[in-house]
Amino acid sequence: MKYALVTGGSRGIGRAVCLQLAEMGYPVIINYASNKEAALETQKLVEDKGVTAELLPFDVTSNEEVEQALDQWMENHPDDYIAILVNNAGIRQDAMMVFMEDSQWNNVLNTSLNGFFYVTRKLLKYMLSKRFGRIINMVSLSGLKGLPGQTNYSAAKAAVIGATKALAQEVGPRKVTVNAVAPGYIATDMTQDLDEATLKKMIPVGRFGTAEEVASLVGFLASEQAGYITGDVISINGGLYT
Ligand code: NAP
Repeated sequence: MKYALVTGGSRGIGRAVCLQLAEMGYPVIINYASNKEAALETQKLVEDKGVTAELLPFDVTSNEEVEQALDQWMENHPDDYIAILVNNAGIRQDAMMVFMEDSQWNNVLNTSLNGFFYVTRKLLKYMLSKRFGRIINMVSLSGLKGLPGQTNYSAAKAAVIGATKALAQEVGPRKVTVNAVAPGYIATDMTQDLDEATLKKMIPVGRFGTAEEVASLVGFLASEQAGYITGDVISINGGLYT
């Protein structure tokens, strides 16, 4: 059986992606860091669609936790494999670079970039041997154009874009595709502190996007029909110039 794993699946965009993949019939593994309550809510919403949903908490910044959780999952699922991986876990810790602390730099890089590396490396060999896989990396407009106050976040997302392009070339022959999705401003917990009224004046579509809109793009990239799209970065930003 082919499973889908969504890192940071408890809330926001990750939750919407879990629901989208469930609608496509995939049993879903919901990863999260600490918010069990939100993860349980996502699990219930997925199960309401008649699809299996398993919680798999681990911190994507810890290679040890990633290895342990996924080894355990594989032990419990000898006949299944994770065919769809959505590297969605991410955090923002904004500061102008002159004031940026080591921890702000490291936390953001560790989550988006190292998290992508640890989880993807672990699952790749199974996708390659089964000759089918879909890897979708959640990056950002910030990683394409750079945003002031986000040198850490822009660097992390731009690095994942580079890795997406390189990995796509490594694994293309085995029918594993690797793409990145670059949202602009999406209404989630992550953007709650932003001044939406002011920011939306800059967005041609005139509003923040929804997690569901991002999830339907991820759903398409995860589908069989998207087999000829790889190594690409797809923007979803309401027309903000990138
Ligand atoms: P969110 O609402 O803040 O949710 C973040 C998710 O990531 C939560 O599920 C959280 O788990 C999980 N997470 C954080 N650190 C983790 C770790 N170390 N290990 C495992 N899981 C971890 O964020 P969002 O807005 O949905 O963003 C999702 C992704 O989209 C991120 O990569 C973000 O950078 C990207 N993005 C968002 C926007 C936007 O406007 N919202 C725009 C561009 C890109 P817990 O619930 O356990 O904390």
